[in-house]
Amino acid sequence: MKKIILTGDRPTGKLHVGHYAGSLKRRVELQNSGEYDEIYIMIADAQALTDNADNPEKVRQNIIEVALDYMSCGLDPEKSVLFIQSQIPELCELSFYYMNLVTVSRLQRNPTVKTEIKMRNFETSIPVGFFTYPISQAADITAFKATTVPVGEDQMPMVEQTREIVRKFNSVYGETLTDPDILLPSNKACLRLPGIDGKAKMSKSLGNCIYLSDSKDEIKKKIMSMYTDPDHVQVSDPGKIEGNTVFTYLDAFSNEEHFGRYLPDYANLDELKAHYQRGGLGDVKVKKFLLNVLLEELEPIQNKRKELEKDIPYIYEVLRNGSICARNKASETLDDVKKAMKINYFDDEELIKAQSEKYGSDK
Ligand code: ATP
Ligand code: MG
Repeated sequence: MKKIILTGDRPTGKLHVGHYAGSLKRRVELQNSGEYDEIYIMIADAQALTDNADNPEKVRQNIIEVALDYMSCGLDPEKSVLFIQSQIPELCELSFYYMNLVTVSRLQRNPTVKTEIKMRNFETSIPVGFFTYPISQAADITAFKATTVPVGEDQMPMVEQTREIVRKFNSVYGETLTDPDILLPSNKACLRLPGIDGKAKMSKSLGNCIYLSDSKDEIKKKIMSMYTDPDHVQVSDPGKIEGNTVFTYLDAFSNEEHFGRYLPDYANLDELKAHYQRGGLGDVKVKKFLLNVLLEELEPIQNKRKELEKDIPYIYEVLRNGSICARNKASETLDDVKKAMKINYFDDEELIKAQSEKYGSDK
């Protein structure tokens, strides 16, 4: 069986270090591993519109931002198909048929949708499109026959929902769809990177992000304002590591070589943590170290972005070509689905023959 990746992001803002840690960095590694036969990376504009219906300009403007972020991180259009969701109408058709296989109560139980409804104050006015987006995500994943979906932890319920739809479809209509596996980050801190405010998830919609394209000054300002341990008032106070966002980011991004370069008094993160917990280590010193680590990680990405920004028409061309390629693949799957569901009337000569015989047609 072919190994195929499908994943993507909503164009609701520029990409942030949470995306990078949770999914983007891994995607580039998987792309360059040469182990995958096909890789599809989707800019999910149709999904972004499910909770931004009144702000299409925001979605339109952010397509290019996400594409630039992708390619500056190393996604390569020669190796991965970069495309825009709305340009693949087959995805809507698939969603429409999958809707028959999911109950309202099953969607209401989806923990990610529950959290997001609360976050957006949608309790009494949930757009139907938003409510059903896990089904549209199942269409995205299955359209490309994806075997692997590399995403952050918040996407677990979505992939689980997809697997249920696949099994239901295959049991009702016969073996047609591919059952995908989720691929989560192996580093625990990257599963769900918190925001700089310490909130559970860095998210474009919460405005608590460090963006991949933030300037050095912006990154510095954000890191210096980051949530740490509120009881760690004096340098001499013992500090807490759990829930301390600066240390979570160091878990996500730092390695021993960084210590050699920027903080040689400590051999590794465990030593730094132990000192913080004992007392005698100030937040500013730890934050400065994190700043160096992040700037080192982001510098090559930002330099590449500056190069790519010089030829914006090329980026749109990449997306146009990717969308054509993605559409071909999705339309093959849609043909399989329609055949399995017996709604391929005009390709089915047997059907026409049988009906003719039934009515005694002599043509
Ligand atoms: P929005 O607020 O519009 O939903 P978002 O910041 O949650 O935006 P998405 O486009 O929904 O970003 O997510 C894209 C991918 O990035 C998903 O795979 C998701 O799991 C991952 N991701 C997003 N935020 C984080 C985070 N804070 N930590 C780890 N992974 C994340
Ligand atoms: Mg999200």
